[in-house]
Amino acid sequence: MDNRITVIYGDEPKKMTLSLLQEAGPEKEIPKGSKIGIKPNLVNSAPAESGATTHSGIVEGIVEYLQSKGQYDITILEGSWTGASTKEAFRKLGYEEIAERYGTKLIDTKKDKFEIKEYNGVRMEISRTALELDYLIDVPVLKGHCQTLMTGALKNLKGIISDGEKRRFHSMGLHKPIAYLNKIIKADFCIVDGICGDLDFEEGGNPVSMNRIFCCTDPVLTDTYIASLMGYEAGEIGYLSLAGELGVGSTDIGNAEIVELNRDESKTKPSPSRMVRELSRLIDEKDSCSSCYANLIQALMRLKDNGELGKFERNRIAIGQGYRGRSLSCPGIGNCTAEFKSHAAGCPAKTMDILNYLRSF
Ligand code: SF4
Repeated sequence: MDNRITVIYGDEPKKMTLSLLQEAGPEKEIPKGSKIGIKPNLVNSAPAESGATTHSGIVEGIVEYLQSKGQYDITILEGSWTGASTKEAFRKLGYEEIAERYGTKLIDTKKDKFEIKEYNGVRMEISRTALELDYLIDVPVLKGHCQTLMTGALKNLKGIISDGEKRRFHSMGLHKPIAYLNKIIKADFCIVDGICGDLDFEEGGNPVSMNRIFCCTDPVLTDTYIASLMGYEAGEIGYLSLAGELGVGSTDIGNAEIVELNRDESKTKPSPSRMVRELSRLIDEKDSCSSCYANLIQALMRLKDNGELGKFERNRIAIGQGYRGRSLSCPGIGNCTAEFKSHAAGCPAKTMDILNYLRSF
């Protein structure tokens, strides 16, 4: 595990994944012939554009990249949430097609054999296929969650336990069992689908275009970075801080090396999400980049959670390249608004910096 997080911006999942892996080179750590598992998030069969599920192009990119580097025994494995059919998700979302085209295995962990594992007195049924892997690649979606605030790499492993266990995890409040599960079985490499995750709900419905994919070998650091992109501190997410305390990985985002492979050059497009549109009422946008705008939306969501949006009803927030060189007194986001009376610096401005700036405005 190292403290590097590599980020790529764009909206072409497969191409971005190939570039990211070329840079990160995970195969250097994987002996030839290893059993590699790829675990996407297919909570249900809603399309990736809804914010709920992993873009199949990312998994296709991973498989294609690994096969270009050597002989591996690759399995794509997932178990949708208790009310949904994994088979349907595999079929509808293009995973059956990938397995067929590249000759990988496709395992519905709901139908797998399970082994009982225990950590600190908590027993859980875990997919045997997952336990027998030599190397696990975790491919979560960056999104919100009604109970745990966010979901990312650590929580994505819930897809390798039995349905009964998933229900029991909920009855235990999720945080402790998720941290313990990751103590028993840990992802070796995480690639996060941050192209369009959901703002507040695991099952999608309020997608926000964040136009980025990133990777890291530490699942705790991965989730800490996701938390920061959503405007949370690691300490606010129970399972994340617990996993850090248990030594699953590091929450020290301040000392992480964040490497951005490119700049986001895409422009913000109107969102289909009711929630995003509602937050957008407070924004005056002129030619803003998608990533900067998405970070602002995430920050506004945190302010909304705490009832702190009122002051912007009459003092709308400016963002975008159309504000370059202008001198205004309203709140400004990003280096494009550097001539304003005050602004949140950065290009793109970071969610946490936007949040702190807007709180103090
Ligand atoms: S500050 Fe940078 S990322 Fe943000 S809108 Fe301006 S050019 Fe785009």
